[in-house]
Amino acid sequence: MQLTSILAFSEASAAPTGSTMQDEASYLCGSCGESICVPIDLSAGSRQIYVEDCPVCCRANVIHLEIDAQGGVSATSELE
Ligand SMILES: [Zn+2]
Repeated sequence: MQLTSILAFSEASAAPTGSTMQDEASYLCGSCGESICVPIDLSAGSRQIYVEDCPVCCRANVIHLEIDAQGGVSATSELE
């Protein structure tokens, strides 16, 4: 029982405001239309552009990530 209360406490201090910061986003592959989840490096800036190969059809997608002040993430993609 003691262990349980310690765990609950540390979760509460990690997110004191019940924040909904996302650390992943999903985009639709421009070639096959699959929804692909990608991890986000929140320390890399609020606007990020990078190229990633679709794990389904292997086409290169250019991913545009935008992170707003509330930590919301929007991802769009286009074929390279
Ligand atoms: Zn694809």
